[in-house]
Amino acid sequence: MLLRLFVFFLLFYLFYRIYFSGRRTARPAAKRASADAAEEMVLDPQCKSYLPKSDAMRRGDQYFCSERCASLYLVGRSS
Ligand SMILES: [Zn+2]
Repeated sequence: MLLRLFVFFLLFYLFYRIYFSGRRTARPAAKRASADAAEEMVLDPQCKSYLPKSDAMRRGDQYFCSERCASLYLVGRSS
C-alpha cells in the first residue's frame, strides 16, 4: 500500500515536472520569435520618420533614412 502511494506520487511528480518544464521552454521560444519579427526601429532626426535599423544609415550616433537627410542634419547642426 505504501509502494502504491509512492508510485502515485512519483507519477504525479513526473507529470508536474514535464508540464511545467514544457511551459517554461515554450514561452521564451515564442518571445524570441516575436522579437525577431519586430525589428528595432530608429528615428531619423532630420525628417522625423521611423525606419528599420537595417534600412537606416548611420552617422556617428544618429540614424538616417538617406544620405540627403544625413548631410542636411549635419550641416544644420554645425551652423
Ligand atoms: Zn530622413
